[in-house]
Amino acid sequence: TEPIVTIGEILVEIMAETRGNGFREPQALIGPFPSGAPAIFIDQVAKAGHPAAIVSAVGDDDFGALNIDRLRADGVDVSAIAVLPGIATGSAFVRYREDGSRDFVFNIRHSASGQLSLTPEAERVLEGAGHLHVMGSALSIPATLGLTLDAVKSIKARGGTVSFDPNIRKEMLGDKQMGPALRAVLAVTDIFLPSGEELALFTGEDDEATGIGRLLQGGISEIVLKRGAAGASHFDAQGRTDMAGFAVEEIDPTGAGDCFGACYLVCRRLGMNVPDALRYANAAGARNVTIKGPMEGTSSLSELEAFIASTPQRS
Ligand code: ATP
Repeated sequence: TEPIVTIGEILVEIMAETRGNGFREPQALIGPFPSGAPAIFIDQVAKAGHPAAIVSAVGDDDFGALNIDRLRADGVDVSAIAVLPGIATGSAFVRYREDGSRDFVFNIRHSASGQLSLTPEAERVLEGAGHLHVMGSALSIPATLGLTLDAVKSIKARGGTVSFDPNIRKEMLGDKQMGPALRAVLAVTDIFLPSGEELALFTGEDDEATGIGRLLQGGISEIVLKRGAAGASHFDAQGRTDMAGFAVEEIDPTGAGDCFGACYLVCRRLGMNVPDALRYANAAGARNVTIKGPMEGTSSLSELEAFIASTPQRS
């Protein structure tokens, strides 16, 4: 099988230990954890047993090594992660509010991840890809945006497929190029994986069914709508499939969507039908939120089988 490839930021995440505290006063932090939405995604692809590679960059420092070592150990092809001298690996500081929502302080643009370029290794990895997964967070970085738009064009020209998870973080928006870039990717997307809010944002429609209908008409083959604790829904030309989420206690929500998307894509490429793939993807998201650290809760398929067998679904 040809690898699933993604492009984008590799970071360390450092998190506030206690809910509610802002970052305006000193406090207990834990980390560094390997992170970055594309990194979490590709780690989950590899752990689920599918060939996987990422085009990215880190600094020549411990934060970069922490990430490369983890990804390599989990089976990701790390040959297209450039190690850039003289610039730090990116970082994200996260704190949780009392209501469970999150605020981030990102250092991406002025980190190694802000300086992705088409190295010979990146070119080789992209040429070998069977499927390209695009993450909205990566499109907020100007250098990555151009590289991604080119990669999307060339994989489509070679008969490969493209999936798109907008994973929009308010802290990353604000670039004028973002809107057109997001729409350009959406125009060539085969599998779209938004949250409900992102669906409304992209279609300009408050009504879910109307928004979905418009996207399917526009040429997207599959829409997989993430509904947090409630689970997920799948839409294609054949109709709609709903799958309830698993009943778990949420410890750390970061990374759920990335694990969900990775698992859904791998299961489908392994030939699973839509309901089974949704069940595994819900399990990957749910298992991830029970474990502290964004990439600490990525799962193998056998871990997911055990999780599914032992965890009730919400009704
Ligand atoms: P993020 O941006 O935080 O990675 P997201 O907004 O892209 O996440 P969510 O809908 O929050 O995506 O989560 C993705 C999937 O993970 C859900 O569809 C669900 O299957 C699972 N999931 C997330 N949170 C929970 C939870 N609290 N309980 C059970 N399952 C969950």
